[in-house]
Amino acid sequence: MKVKQNISLKPYNTFNINVVAKKFASFSSLDELNEILEASSKQPIEKLILGGGSNILFTKNFDGIVLKNELKGIELINEDDEYYYVKAAAGEVWHNFVQYCIEKNYAGVENLSLIPGNVGASPMQNIGAYGVEIKDVFYELEALHIHDKTITKFGLKDCEFGYRESVFKRKFKKQFIILNVTYKLKKQPNFNTSYGAIEDELKRMDVKELSIQAISQAVINIRTSKLPNPKEIGNAGSFFKNPTIAIELLEKIKLNHPTIPFYNLQNNNEQVKIAAGWLIEQCGFKGYRKNDAGCHTKQALVLVNYGNAKGEEILDLCQLIISSVKSKFDIELEAEVNVY
Ligand code: FAD
Ligand code: NAP
Repeated sequence: MKVKQNISLKPYNTFNINVVAKKFASFSSLDELNEILEASSKQPIEKLILGGGSNILFTKNFDGIVLKNELKGIELINEDDEYYYVKAAAGEVWHNFVQYCIEKNYAGVENLSLIPGNVGASPMQNIGAYGVEIKDVFYELEALHIHDKTITKFGLKDCEFGYRESVFKRKFKKQFIILNVTYKLKKQPNFNTSYGAIEDELKRMDVKELSIQAISQAVINIRTSKLPNPKEIGNAGSFFKNPTIAIELLEKIKLNHPTIPFYNLQNNNEQVKIAAGWLIEQCGFKGYRKNDAGCHTKQALVLVNYGNAKGEEILDLCQLIISSVKSKFDIELEAEVNVY
């Protein structure tokens, strides 16, 4: 185990923001992690667990220790009539885990293909795409408490999953290091093609028989055509959550914007979900650029770094968008990305 000093975090975040971490260490075993925690417990110092850095915006140098998770391993640990139970270490790349499931015909994560980042961060914000969220395939996880170093198991209810939310983003924020996650994957697939773009892409691909392989490929095709590749343009995916608003506000907005897209929520007749990207576009930000900070040309929900933007410049743009949307629509956008 080696703790490095004054390390640039540019290669470790998909926004490509160049800030410096006072200390940096990676761990590939529980022993290594405990050793680092022990060594850094002598002085109180802030700790940041880093996966793929694809949901983080750094706005200043990090005056603590970055712990880069490199725990590896994927194994089938159990099965019953309905499910395969697969345990994946937190440092596994999420899409590699998805590919493992697709190859073995384990169903449930095909709609979540190509989401950047690692397994360990998947429960953090209950990652979701195309009508599926991690909560739909989650069985349990193990996490180490950052101070007392005990390992706790969290089941589905304990995680308090919500839309891009979990207990780890709220009441247990910065308290636990997720070590591994066990998912339950279906033996008989329940295909979810509820998002129109998937149906359209499957038709374009001329798929005759639906399969998890075909859905995964359709999702990969859509994502690569629409989303900026962080290796080419720095970004952290959708910068904002899609807001939910009261029906009364929707009716008021419809008077001036009759085509506003909205989606009904499960078990909630009083509110609807609005596409944040549409709101931002209506405020004129799609394709907006100031210096190297901008709003993507194809998807206004994605803020981008065209090269040398500082984290504060991206944050300024975020705040400008929030205030513009608020004054035009009376809707308060909330950032999805973790700002440090
Ligand atoms: P990081 O950015 O490294 O960390 C995110 C947060 O989790 C940080 O607060 C970090 O401290 C914490 N954390 C990370 N690992 C652990 C751990 N082991 N224990 C405790 N805390 C931890 N998200 C979606 O939900 N759906 C999408 O469709 C989607 N598409 C995206 C597309 C693009 C192009 C990009 C760049 C991002 C996208 N995202 C999407 C966001 C991002 O990929 C996910 O949030 C992903 O889960 C982040 O994983 P990570 O390993 O990169 O996390
Ligand atoms: P899109 O299809 O252009 O749709 C815009 C928004 O409308 C989506 O965010 C989605 O909300 C909602 N929506 C669309 N069809 C819906 C339906 N049939 N039922 C309910 N809600 C619907 O979106 P996109 O930007 O191309 O993204 C496609 C999917 O990938 C979405 O699920 C999105 O969340 C996910 N994605 C997430 C990120 C991220 O960083 N978090 C980045 C890229 C893509 P939901 O977001 O609630 O699904």
